[in-house]
Amino acid sequence: MAYGRVALVGAGPGHPGLLTERARALVEQADVVVFDRLVSPRLLMHAKPDAALLYAGKAPGCHALAQRDIEALLVDLARHHALVVRLKGGDPLVFGRGAEEAAALREAGVPFELVPGVTSAVAVPAFAGIPVTLRGVSRSFAVATGHAGDGLRAHLDALAGAETLVLLMGVAELPRIAEELRARGVSPDTPAAIVAWGTRAKQGSLRATLATLPAEAERRGIGSPAVIVIGDVAADASLGSWFESMPRFGERHLLFASSMREALAHAAQLEAEGAEVLAHTWDRAQSVRVAELEAAVCMSAQGKPVGFAFRTALGVEMWFCAVQRAGLDLRRLSNLKLAAVDGYVAQALRDRGLAPDARSLGEMARTPVEVWFAEVPGSGRDADVEAACRASGAEVRALHLLGPRLAPAVPPCWQPFVRDWRDIVAEWLAEGPANLWALGDPALLRPLADDVGMGGEPLRRADAFGLAAAEAVCGA
Ligand code: SAH
Repeated sequence: MAYGRVALVGAGPGHPGLLTERARALVEQADVVVFDRLVSPRLLMHAKPDAALLYAGKAPGCHALAQRDIEALLVDLARHHALVVRLKGGDPLVFGRGAEEAAALREAGVPFELVPGVTSAVAVPAFAGIPVTLRGVSRSFAVATGHAGDGLRAHLDALAGAETLVLLMGVAELPRIAEELRARGVSPDTPAAIVAWGTRAKQGSLRATLATLPAEAERRGIGSPAVIVIGDVAADASLGSWFESMPRFGERHLLFASSMREALAHAAQLEAEGAEVLAHTWDRAQSVRVAELEAAVCMSAQGKPVGFAFRTALGVEMWFCAVQRAGLDLRRLSNLKLAAVDGYVAQALRDRGLAPDARSLGEMARTPVEVWFAEVPGSGRDADVEAACRASGAEVRALHLLGPRLAPAVPPCWQPFVRDWRDIVAEWLAEGPANLWALGDPALLRPLADDVGMGGEPLRRADAFGLAAAEAVCGA
């Protein structure tokens, strides 16, 4: 039997900057991504618009899929898909059961690749300003599970001697662990810290002592998932609270955009200032179709005076794809006219080195072509744009770039685990307040907001931060 490949990939603790280059490349190429509960949805923005996203996570106390079912799932998916990415929080081999999954794949003869990830054991303390080793303070650190069933107590004698003790999955057992460490001679005044949801917008951290940490954490509501650090490093102030003091720390932004590609470009600017970003886009909400566009591009290559009226940056992006796929040289399209009614879309053209011939309905009406191809934005036609095209005396053809979203090609028995992007976004929204931005005309992007239950909320146009930053880069 011919199998595709499976990549067992570490996603890091959540911050998009902590996804490795290899991990990102694999997510970008994957036909299917099987992800865990602690994988930040932001990282799934890199997936292809039509990739199937499967949730194999375990909520505390209730298992979504048993480990052996996950293994069977991976083997089965590899039968049907060229590249399956198994995305796990942190590093796949640090309490991630990556080795078990690798063994199952090997046994079934499925080729696999393993991509280590940035483990929360080190990165989460770092984002809370805690170094796990420190010259003159701590020469070693031990990472242990705090999960009672995993034989922790039997190992506490050895762990009590570690200069820095890092506990994962330790929230539920924290009071007992603190007690047992004290019983083994660890001073109650030993500095101790807990960091929940590290590297994310909802990161919360607390520094205390071994004696006070359990009660204090409970009082402050700092719970799972969290990393606990016990040892003198937990009192070190060298790093300050560098992440939590970034200008946009704690802010959450949801971008509504026509394509994930443009959303990712804008996300980078907000994330550089410490914000958390997610996006909902037309190319995720619907299926992108290129046939009509390719036919239209070929028509302009034959020298016919045609125009394209773009309404979204996705239209611009896809037009360039179609030109590339047709193997055309842009200089051959000398009779071509381009219109972008929206300033945001006009900028998308300029970013690619093309100046729009028409930037308003009036200019479109005065632009002589034989045929106007008018992009149908999202779900509805734009009567004003079509009227302006017609006023130029041209024939008007609607250009449909989007069609109904197709169900991902996953074997039926695994369909219940397929997650819709809109549900993933809606869940993220339910976790806390977010700023809503439209990359482009808010009226065109409104249906995307409806899609994730934000229909009644105001949508702000994102030109303000988007274009200002683009100018700053060009001017540099
Ligand atoms: N393979 C993962 C660990 C999986 S065990 C890694 O290398 O990081 C799950 C535990 O990891 C959680 O209970 C918590 O202790 C820790 N963890 C993972 N991500 C975290 C995050 N963003 N913030 C705090 N703790 C996290």
